[in-house]
Amino acid sequence: MSDVKHYSNGEITIVWKSEKCAHSANCFRNLPVVFNPRVKPWIQPHNAVTGEIVQVVQGCPSGALTILDGDVPQPE
Ligand code: SF4
Repeated sequence: MSDVKHYSNGEITIVWKSEKCAHSANCFRNLPVVFNPRVKPWIQPHNAVTGEIVQVVQGCPSGALTILDGDVPQPE
């Protein structure tokens, strides 16, 4: 099983690398409608506009979150 997860809203793909995540909570403090560890999957990419998501991803201190353009499928 890959520890890299992809979550797409059709315009962009949020990539989350679990091993890099420092659990700093920046993402769910800033945009809890998208980043919510209490629900599954914990990233809900359709709950905010792309611009908001990109801003929060750029605030991830560990580099666990990144963005790819378009709908990039989950790697095997
Ligand atoms: S902001 Fe980055 S490091 Fe912090 S919890 Fe979210 S994904 Fe993990």
